[in-house]
Amino acid sequence: MQENESIIEISNVYKYFDDKVALDDVSLTIKKGEFVTILGPSGCGKTTLLRLIAGFQIVSKGEISIFGNDITHIPPYKRPVNTVFQKYALFPHLNVYDNIAFGLKLKKMQKSLIEKKVKASLKMVGMTDYEYRDVDTLSGGQQQRVAIARAIVNEPEVLLLDEPLAALDLKMRKEMQLELKSMHKSLGITFIYVTHDQEEALTLSDTIVVMSEGRIQQIGTPVDIYNEPINSFVANFIGESNIFNGTMLEDRSVSFCGRTFECVDEGFGKMTPVDVVIRPEDVYIFPVSDAAQLTGIVQSTLFKGVHYEMAVLSNGYEFLVQDYHFFEVGAEVGILVKPADIHIMKKERTCNTFEGKMLDIDKVEFLGCQFECLPVDDISSGTPVKIEVDFNKIILHDNAEDGTLVGEVKYILYKGDHYHLTVWTDWDEDIFVDTTDVWDDGDSVGITIPADGIRIIK
Ligand code: ADP
Ligand code: MG
Repeated sequence: MQENESIIEISNVYKYFDDKVALDDVSLTIKKGEFVTILGPSGCGKTTLLRLIAGFQIVSKGEISIFGNDITHIPPYKRPVNTVFQKYALFPHLNVYDNIAFGLKLKKMQKSLIEKKVKASLKMVGMTDYEYRDVDTLSGGQQQRVAIARAIVNEPEVLLLDEPLAALDLKMRKEMQLELKSMHKSLGITFIYVTHDQEEALTLSDTIVVMSEGRIQQIGTPVDIYNEPINSFVANFIGESNIFNGTMLEDRSVSFCGRTFECVDEGFGKMTPVDVVIRPEDVYIFPVSDAAQLTGIVQSTLFKGVHYEMAVLSNGYEFLVQDYHFFEVGAEVGILVKPADIHIMKKERTCNTFEGKMLDIDKVEFLGCQFECLPVDDISSGTPVKIEVDFNKIILHDNAEDGTLVGEVKYILYKGDHYHLTVWTDWDEDIFVDTTDVWDDGDSVGITIPADGIRIIK
């Protein structure tokens, strides 16, 4: 067999629950023997994707094939895959041996062969001699080992693992991560692993697939994803980052935080708005000197075991800095970032855009609501128009009734001197908001857009 042979091909898959989109045009090729991790925040569609591969759910649109055969409509038990779930899902009335042997007995396999296979898979998960224990006398970690043994005893081509370590404590989780990695090596089969824990993904995977809101954001090796995140979502989700609004002035020159920096990026054009991402470990901090690009005051210092994590306020922007040297709160410091450590990303959007309709000279409809706007006399009512609203023109209220429409804060990006929020509306369109107010993920809010914040384009 070829080294890089693909085993699973997911092509333009959509999954709807009623009119809610759980997966939105997902395409992914998984290679034989790979350890692939699907990583993303809760609710982004990870479990749904895994269930579609396992066959517990059926795609709404698109195709899934294994070894080149379309399996979209093949029932789960005929697929060469086995699943380990987050909750152990063992049979409480059976002992360890019978839990693992269960599937083989159903297949009417010879007794001596079953015994051989059960013993081999117990050995694989480090649970030799536990055959006759009741499963409810086992610790969480041991139960999850049995669950893994029960899945691999069937010798699947692909093992699907849905947050299998999420219920374990930190120490056990770290231990099991190492064991899973060595199991993957010795079994030589394909692992598809689901987690919302970025550290776990970076530790375990050959390939990471970052998802958000039903869509794949980036596919790459842990090093690629960490060093070259494709957008500010990925950068923020993988590890800690400083993310600032910036302007690419020309090739190799970018301005942010009130200063111009040399960088290594080219091809963004002139005066282009961009997101600037800098990892905290890439910011140098030292007593103020001529070498400083910016100076600032230390706001907070945390000891993190190996390094200190400090927040430095400079020109009104907050930098997160990690360094082995300690600087106390209130100290005046210089900071410096090297050109290659400044990562430039194209902005997905620079303002909100909506489709709407003029209702009157100073009234326009969009997002399912009527808004007052500044008078426009050259567009007759009924005309479809494009609406633009700057991020910082949108006002959010604690009280949902105080707004023209209602929304839920879904995603928060800290940009050094303000927050960039994604707000879901009940019209099922997102609004993006810049604010200095502090909101939490999941807050429900009222939304107002003042007349002078609405730009109407014919
Ligand atoms: P994750 O595993 O990443 O947390 P899921 O795949 O479980 O996310 O869910 C993705 C989205 O689909 C969520 O918004 C969830 O509420 C919705 N969803 C999942 N399963 C169902 C279902 N059976 N019926 C309705 N909505 C569902
Ligand atoms: Mg899930």
